[in-house]
Amino acid sequence: MTPSLPAGVERRPFDGRERLATRGEPVYGEPTDGGWRLWDARRSKLGAMLEKGMDTGLAGGETVLYLGAASGTTASHVADFAGPTYAVEFAARPARDLLSVAESRPNLFPLLKDARRPETYAHVVEPVDAIVQDVATRGQARVATANRRFLREGGRLLAAVKARSEDVTADPADVFDAFLDDLAGYEVLGTARLEPFHDDHLAVVARRV
Ligand code: SAM
Repeated sequence: MTPSLPAGVERRPFDGRERLATRGEPVYGEPTDGGWRLWDARRSKLGAMLEKGMDTGLAGGETVLYLGAASGTTASHVADFAGPTYAVEFAARPARDLLSVAESRPNLFPLLKDARRPETYAHVVEPVDAIVQDVATRGQARVATANRRFLREGGRLLAAVKARSEDVTADPADVFDAFLDDLAGYEVLGTARLEPFHDDHLAVVARRV
């Protein structure tokens, strides 16, 4: 049975097809209809996870720590259906766009911080129900493990692992195995490759133990 979508995420008709959508101000030129905005899975790893029917455990209304928010494409959809959403991004240019995305979303809190250094935002972030991670950088397992401290017991990690960020020459399957081996403090509940939406990405759903 396909897991249900979080409350606040629906499949709505766009261009004659049922597509994921959330309600909120448009952010990246996506089509809108009656307050709903298309959530394009080709531009979002979390969108691809939902589109592929992964059981993310998200019900809607969660407190979320989002690592690797970039310009806020996916973080904006998360803030549309979640509760407080702390969005960490360390590059100044996309973080500027993220700030303007947050203007219409009072529950979205941009943090211009390095996700490898959680101690620099520990005084701001409350305990969260879910971590969404899409940092596309070397050491993706270490980032997930370092930020585990923010997850309440049993909370979920929803990570997109980009093989090329770890090693451009390695077989992606070997990179994904290494990520799962290095992921400390979590029980892995499910994995899925994100093709055809994103090449050489592994989505991982894990529970804090
Ligand atoms: N998640 C975004 C979305 O779906 O809209 C796309 C994220 S992009 C693939 C990866 C982002 O992670 C980049 O903006 C990059 O600057 C950021 N990033 C990489 N390493 C980081 C770190 N250590 N701390 C914070 N952000 C980081």
